[in-house]
Amino acid sequence: MGRLLLLALAVLVLVWLVRRALRGRQAGAPPAAGSAAELVACAHCGLLVPRGEARVADGGLYCSDAHARLGPRRP
Ligand SMILES: [Zn+2]
Repeated sequence: MGRLLLLALAVLVLVWLVRRALRGRQAGAPPAAGSAAELVACAHCGLLVPRGEARVADGGLYCSDAHARLGPRRP
């Protein structure tokens, strides 16, 4: 099961990288800020969530209300 999860994560990261590369190639196009489908990383745990579902707190984006309360992960 752990291996499957790792594979799913790898695919997710790959898709994200490809999408980012494709966006970067569109010269002059502004970054898709405001796009609800864009994936953003939780400032606490790093989980990728659609921007439309992310919680915003203190200028950071979080995957859940719980992590929004906890705030950014400290090093
Ligand atoms: Zn989180």
